[in-house]
Amino acid sequence: MYETTYHRASSLAEAVRLRADSDEAKYLAGGMTLIPTMKQRLAAPSELVDLRHIAELRGIAVKGRRVRIGAGTPHNEVATSAAISAVCPALCHLAALIGDPLVRHMGTLGGSIANNDPAADYPAAMLGLDATIITDRREIPAGDFFTGLFETALEDGEIVVAATFEAPARAGYSKFANPASRFAMTGVFAAQAADGTVRVAVTGAGANGVFRHAGLEAALTRNWSPDVVSDVAVETGDLLSDLHGNADYRANLVKVMAKRAVATA
Ligand SMILES: Cc1cc2nc3c(=O)[nH]c(=O)nc-3n(C[C@H](O)[C@H](O)[C@H](O)COP(=O)(O)OP(=O)(O)OC[C@H]3O[C@@H](n4cnc5c(N)ncnc54)[C@H](O)[C@@H]3O)c2cc1C
Repeated sequence: MYETTYHRASSLAEAVRLRADSDEAKYLAGGMTLIPTMKQRLAAPSELVDLRHIAELRGIAVKGRRVRIGAGTPHNEVATSAAISAVCPALCHLAALIGDPLVRHMGTLGGSIANNDPAADYPAAMLGLDATIITDRREIPAGDFFTGLFETALEDGEIVVAATFEAPARAGYSKFANPASRFAMTGVFAAQAADGTVRVAVTGAGANGVFRHAGLEAALTRNWSPDVVSDVAVETGDLLSDLHGNADYRANLVKVMAKRAVATA
């Protein structure tokens, strides 16, 4: 790891100011992705601005079916939240599948979506739930937030403050995990809103990161049943082929995980 200077911010304003002081600075949340990349010398921020002690970034609020999750909320708090579980148990289930207990107690929602790993779980939930990502500058629909592999709409120095969404009538998440890292080889989040419309988001399989599948959405909007999934074509053109599996294999996983997500909703 290269030398770096650590700063503990106690407010959003202070974090933004500390970050603006240096082009080489980076925000530190749970450190579950940033620290390993620093150890591998793949990242060398001259300043680390720690966000974990900022109250404005913490907390889960559920009013009616409106859910708001602070960006600094550890995965485990989402996984074990009774308030979220009452209106959207699929999100608690998803958070409980992230990494291992250490990762779940340290890693945060904000760090996960800001990093936008193509095999991360939360991006599928944010897209499937039609969430709004609130930053220190604006509100971004999830559909505009995730822009590519490890890329988001965030501008330099912009902080994710929270994510908010209207809990759907029903939703499910199913993940085929990489046995070593637990990241998604393929994960599918399927949600049906109160008006019957369906959103299906896929992580771990897209060559350009998380995506929505229009064919599955149309079929499930017509009939919310695992049985309709078999008749939907999943094209391989934009799917990932790598060491862990080729595009055909992932196309099949998309269908299997979609069936399971709908069946468990
Ligand atoms: C062994 C292991 C297994 C894992 N398995 C999974 C898995 O199964 N599924 C999964 O989804 N993830 C998995 N992860 C990743 C994990 O979820 C991380 O917690 C997450 O990727 C990053 O969150 P963090 O809070 O640790 O962020 P950090 O590592 O602190 O930061 C990540 C990046 O986001 C930026 N950042 C952090 N917070 C903010 C913010 N509020 N606003 C703007 N930028 C911000 C940082 O500057 C940095 O660039 C795994 C990680 C490990 C080490």
